[in-house]
Formats: sequence, C-alpha cells, structure tokens
Amino acid sequence: MANRSQYTCTHIVNGEAIDTSETFFEHLNPNTATVLTRVPLASPELVNQAVQAAKAAFAEWANTPIVKRSQIFYRYKRLFEDQFAALAQLLSTEHGKNVNEAKGSLRRGLEVIELACSLPAVYKGETLRNVGGGVDYETHRFPLGVCVGITPFNFPAMIPLWMFPISVMAGNTFILKPSPQTPLTSTRLVELAGEAGLPPGVLNIVHGGKEVVDALLTHPDIQAISFVGSTPVARYIYQQGTNAGKRVQASGGAKNYALVMPDAPIDNTVNALISSVFGSIGERCMATSVVIGTDAAIDRILPSLKNVAQQLTLGRTDGQNIPDIGPVVSKEHQERIEGYIQKGVDEGAELILDGRNPFVADAPNGFFVGPTIFDRVAPDMTIAQEEIFGPVLSIIRVNSLQNAIAQINKSPFGNAVVVYTNSGRSAREIQDKAECGMVGINVGVPAPMSLFPFSGWKQSFFGDLHVQSSEGLDFCTKKKVVMKRWFDDDQLNDIVF
Ligand code: NAD
Repeated sequence: MANRSQYTCTHIVNGEAIDTSETFFEHLNPNTATVLTRVPLASPELVNQAVQAAKAAFAEWANTPIVKRSQIFYRYKRLFEDQFAALAQLLSTEHGKNVNEAKGSLRRGLEVIELACSLPAVYKGETLRNVGGGVDYETHRFPLGVCVGITPFNFPAMIPLWMFPISVMAGNTFILKPSPQTPLTSTRLVELAGEAGLPPGVLNIVHGGKEVVDALLTHPDIQAISFVGSTPVARYIYQQGTNAGKRVQASGGAKNYALVMPDAPIDNTVNALISSVFGSIGERCMATSVVIGTDAAIDRILPSLKNVAQQLTLGRTDGQNIPDIGPVVSKEHQERIEGYIQKGVDEGAELILDGRNPFVADAPNGFFVGPTIFDRVAPDMTIAQEEIFGPVLSIIRVNSLQNAIAQINKSPFGNAVVVYTNSGRSAREIQDKAECGMVGINVGVPAPMSLFPFSGWKQSFFGDLHVQSSEGLDFCTKKKVVMKRWFDDDQLNDIVF
C-alpha cells in the first residue's frame, strides 16, 4: 500500500487495500470544489468480511504479551511523528482547516498514542490479600473482542485516535468507519499502523454512510461501539447498539457558552474567544458558540472582538499559505451555516459582522463563510438554541451572573462552558453550577488532554464511560475477579519440596 496516491481512498481489511466497491461518494476539495477523492462505499458483505477478519485476528492479538503490543505502538508513534507534516497537509486539504490547526489536532491525537504506549502501567489489576482467613482476591482485565469506531468529519485524525489506540492496545481488534467527507487522513492512520507492525485484521477501515453503520450496529460479532457525531445520530447509535446488546459510548453535538464577567482581562479574553469561536472554522464540538454577559461586560470586549474578527484572513488551505480561516467542509454545510445566519436576521438579532459571500482571492470557488457576529440575540432564537457548527457567534445579554447560569443550563447540550474573569468566586460559581462536563476558566477551548475523559453531559453524550483516560480503558475491557483460598489443613512443615 506504500505506493498508493495520497488521494486514493480504499478500504483496508485484513491488511489489504480493497478497491472493489461499485458505489462511491465524491468528496470535493473544499478549497476548489473539484473532486479530491472518490470514497468507496462498503457493501454489507465487505462489512462482514471486515468483522470476520477482526474476529479471526482477536485470539492471537489478545494473547500477545502487552509489552509486545506496546512496542508496536511505540513504533507507530515514531512513524506518526515522521509523517506529521504530511498528515497535517493531507488533513487540511481534505477538511479545510489551516495546517496549524491540523497540526494542533494531530498533537492531541499523538497524546492518546502516547497514553496507549504506557497502558501496561494502568492495565494491571488490583489485589487484596487475606480478605477472609486465607482468602485472597485479585482482578484481571480482559479485552472485549471486536470493537468499532464511527467518526465525524471535523477531526479525521484526533477522533479516531481517541478510540483505536487504547482499544487495540487493550487487546481488542478494531474496525474504523470514518466520515465519507474526510476519509483520507483516517485511512492513512490505519495504513501506518500496518507499517508499524500491527498484524493483519487487528485494525481495519471501511468506508460508507448509514448502511455501513447499520450493518455494524446489528452485527452479532461486534462487542462495543464508540461514536462521535451529531446528537440525533448519537442517540440512534446508542439506542440501536445497546438494543443489540453492545457496549456503546456515543458523543453528540454541542452549543458551548462563554461567560464574560465585567472584570475579564480584555486582550486575553478577546484572543481566547477569537480562537475558540472562529478556530477550525467553528467546526468543533468545543467551539464557543454563544457569549453571555451583562451590558457592562459585553460592551467592554465587543469593539475589540469585532475588530480582530474583521481582520482574520480567509484563503485556501491545500497549498503553502496559512490563512486564519479556510473553507468549511462542503457546499451543503456552507449553505446550512448561511441558512442559520439568515434565520438570525429574520428572527431579529443584530448582525454586526456578516461573513456570507466573502471574496477569497486565491479560492473563488471554495466553500467559505467568514467570521459572523450577532449581538442582542434572544435566548429563544434558533441561532441561540441549535448547533451551527460554523464561524458564527451569538451574544446574549443578561443582567446577572445567576441569570447567565440559568440561561446556560437551559441548553439541552452539555459539553463545555468557559468563564473569563479575574474573580475566583465567579469562576468557582461556574465551575460548580454549570451543567456540563468540561469547564474552562480563562482558556479558549477546554478540551481535556488524553489523561482525562472527554466528558460530555446531557445530549452531548449517551453512555456511561467516555473516551480517553482510564474511562476509555474501562469501556473496552472487562474485569474478572479471582477469589483464591488454599486449604490450611496441611501444616507448612509437611510440604515436601
Ligand atoms: P454526523 O452525525 O453527520 O456523522 C457522524 C458519523 O455518523 C459519520 O461517520 C457518518 O457517516 C455517520 N452517519 C451520519 N448519518 C448517519 C445516520 N443517519 N445513521 C447512521 N450513521 C450516520 O456528524 P458530522 O456532521 O460528521 O460531524 C459533526 C457533528 O459531530 C457535530 O454535531 C459535532 O458537534 C459532533 N462532534 C461531537 C464531538 C464530541 O466529542 N461530542 C466531537 C466532534 C464532533
């Protein structure tokens, strides 16, 4: 597979590149609107072939000593680092985010590979001796079997890496089903794992949409499913998967608030907000989508926020240039975001920066939406309630911290809330009262590093155990408790050596 063009997309099953699909999805380069790759769509037979390959590989892989598995992941880490720049360029070309943002996401993925390398240290069980007279207890971890990862378009490396390194290091075999909108980086990650020495069948990738997902959800030889994507699909995956008797962790969409207090440091707050709202073109489940605060707080930061947002550069991301903002992933997504902007106008919000139809000199056909800011958004407006997943900020004005917290907690989503303040008391109030799983204090995007769980709440997560950290390991392993007793009717000095 080493000579495969970087824009050729294939399935990889049992270590072989498979290009026999008869139906394809054409993914367009979002910078140019020309075909970047033809994504093969797996048939139910191919899905079954992948499951059987993973099932066949399981017994030997699960029995491979964990330190040997870890050595393969150390090689994977080295290959990943060698390929870092090429992976970043591929990612920014197929997705549209700029290459620095692509590198940032790869670094977060690398952290999970590093966690996987060190897994033997935490894989160990527990022991408690002499619980009763002569009775000792111990726990042993076991992998589950064939596990699946279904991933969204916005982080085609980081999100697969949330899933398969820990699962495979734990002794499972794995099938990845990435988004057809960004299939190339994910395919390269699987290819690299083979080059690092992962045996055939241990890590497979199949491409496709709902049909492929449904075939995986109901397959009797699959034990666990990790999903990241929009809330309606996350809910569906959780319901279907658990009905079929599988373990499921399903992360959904989000609508993240940033609370700006009147004492927030202006420059640091504006810089953090610019990166959080407009970074990765707003296509992040941890992006700030709503800023909330009193008139005094908002009026302090808004002129500077608008001024910096206006100066962000737009441009193509598939070459040498590094603009601040690249294109969104597809024409459909561009139109969806523009539809939300129009809805904000129609419902009476004050559009103070309009990013529709920007002129982008080096990419006139690209799918661009520029930075957009609405002020005086009412909490019941569509743009305040629904996930837009683009570079669009809504500002809601309230008259107290308590009202801000009440408003934040009305959201059905529960990923992140950030507060900007110099007051420990206000920060603590948010930390304790915000009904969400990840809180940031004076930071842009509080996405946890791999040692902590990616802890969505409410409709941002369906399941019990999140990805990353020891929760990620618990999700993909089961524990056996062994109770031991050796009868003491023989005297020690009777034991014959
Ligand atoms: P999506 O839900 O459309 O797709 C996610 C995956 O599900 C893809 O692999 C897709 O092929 C598959 N899929 C799509 N529709 C399906 C259906 N009807 N039945 C079965 N499978 C289906 O999401 P997306 O547009 O690729 O990604 C953006 C969404 O992901 C946003 O809502 C974002 O908030 C969310 N997201 C969440 C997190 C998180 O950690 N909570 C992280 C990143 C992205």
